[in-house]
Amino acid sequence: MTPVIMHSPADQRDMADADYARQYHEDLVERWDELIDWDKRAAGEGSFFRDLLHRFGAWRVLDAATGSGFHAAQLHTAGFGVTACDGSPTMVERARRNFERLGVDVPLHHYDWQALDPGVLGTFDAVLCLGSSLCHVFDRESRIAVLRRFRQMLRPDGLLLIDQRNFDAILAGRFASSGRYYYCGNTASVTLGELDDSVCEFCYRFADGAQYRLRVYPIRACQLQEELRLAGFRIPKAYGDFEPFYDVMSADFIVHRAHA
Ligand code: SAH
Repeated sequence: MTPVIMHSPADQRDMADADYARQYHEDLVERWDELIDWDKRAAGEGSFFRDLLHRFGAWRVLDAATGSGFHAAQLHTAGFGVTACDGSPTMVERARRNFERLGVDVPLHHYDWQALDPGVLGTFDAVLCLGSSLCHVFDRESRIAVLRRFRQMLRPDGLLLIDQRNFDAILAGRFASSGRYYYCGNTASVTLGELDDSVCEFCYRFADGAQYRLRVYPIRACQLQEELRLAGFRIPKAYGDFEPFYDVMSADFIVHRAHA
């Protein structure tokens, strides 16, 4: 429990929730890789992202919410030209240490999405925003502005791959973290705290008793697809747990593919 958050007035609470960089404080980030378990996650995802990138001729890739650098390192090793960014200084530092440990030479930047500039970084064949990152933005207009910014970072017809937890299922009372694809580590459990149409709180409990919370906006899949269209993306297509046909109430994660 984070009493400061729970007992503050609603507007202050909203501001604290929207402050994603504050939510990824050092202790949680220090344990992030224990939470996601890179090997199990790689096995769960298989070649899904690499295959999509190949299929659409995408070689220059911007990992816009790299976190601790999982996809950036993996795609770099597979031969893609990856640039990694994140808005949380603690995550950027974690990614830097991971890249160093793995000996991967991935350009890494500390950027909030709104500061991404094609004049500085150039444009890319694909932008990735994975790990349910966009749901850190609570306000619809701000999310559309972020999606427009991602579109500016893409060459014409470039590819956006953006995912989300399956909040349709979660809001219908069907939260099940299978641990098959994300948060695969076996020393932590994930449960739900506060949940309504405006906020979803995830509680991470580690075997040693440490507890952390992340509060995000529970965006529905059709809502994100609509916002993608409003930001100028074409033909969004959704996958459930990496499959084109899926059960909307049992998939853990939805990945959207859309074109600039
Ligand atoms: N993609 C990684 C990390 C997911 S955690 C993975 O799948 O493991 C979500 C990440 O989104 C965090 O690292 C957070 O700092 C980043 N993020 C959230 N809002 C952001 C914003 N406005 N600008 C830049 N990064 C942001």
